[in-house]
Amino acid sequence: PSSLRESKVEVPDVCWADIGGLEETKRELQEMVRYPIEHRGLFEQFGMHASRGVLFYGPPGCGKTLMAKAIANECGANFISVKGPELLNAYFGGSEANVRDLFDKARSASPCILFFDEMDSLARARGSGGGSSDTSDRVINQLLSEIDGIGSGKTLFIIGATNRPDILDPGIMRPGRLDQLIYIPLPDRESRVSIFKANLRKSPVAEDITYEQLADVTEGFSGADITEICQRAAKNAIRDAITADIERQNRVEAGELTQEEADALPDPV
Ligand code: ATP
Repeated sequence: PSSLRESKVEVPDVCWADIGGLEETKRELQEMVRYPIEHRGLFEQFGMHASRGVLFYGPPGCGKTLMAKAIANECGANFISVKGPELLNAYFGGSEANVRDLFDKARSASPCILFFDEMDSLARARGSGGGSSDTSDRVINQLLSEIDGIGSGKTLFIIGATNRPDILDPGIMRPGRLDQLIYIPLPDRESRVSIFKANLRKSPVAEDITYEQLADVTEGFSGADITEICQRAAKNAIRDAITADIERQNRVEAGELTQEEADALPDPV
């Protein structure tokens, strides 16, 4: 069976507060996606066509997927995520028909954000001239015509993501398609402070460490790298807490401490 048919419709639980930095991008997306959904009447009154989609580009692990999910959540829109390579493999399950099914599904889940990750795989397939390039061409053409066919009636918004906009099929970026390019860069110092804060906002944090110090020693790190650091730190802290707990219990059992004295010892975390 085609993985595309199994692509799930969900409302993601990522919110703006989970994303550090990228304030300007958040604002831009609000206008592009949220306004047409929430103020459709105004758009019709001014004869404005809402944008059909955007393309996020930039280094891996800097928040492209996160951003697409957050915008769906903030608008109360449904979210369907598809990876570029899946779209091509869909050939085995019925090719263009699968792309059509996907858009049907998205339309019936409207308002809906349809997210295409690894969009560059499409372009590479088309340019390669390999054995399956005929199939890739048909799949891509179907995709383009589905994007063109998004009318103003249904609120369907397409977000594509790529690390390599330079090798993308120019057809995808034609006016009226994913014509807005949004760069999601490696986080600067201020953004790294925000990403640390976003990642640690639900954890107890040592008082002698500042977010600025953390940002200073992580120049060149992606958001995903910072998340990894925070998760490792949390794991270490949990391990320390468990070890301390076991030691306390051992001391109680050895008669060195009463249970009350053990409970009164300061927590290492
Ligand atoms: P890829 O190009 O590899 O698909 P991406 O840009 O889509 O990467 P995401 O999937 O959005 O990256 O980010 C990966 C993980 O890194 C997120 O789940 C999150 O934990 C963390 N992360 C990345 N950027 C940020 C950010 N700006 N704020 C908070 N967390 C972030």
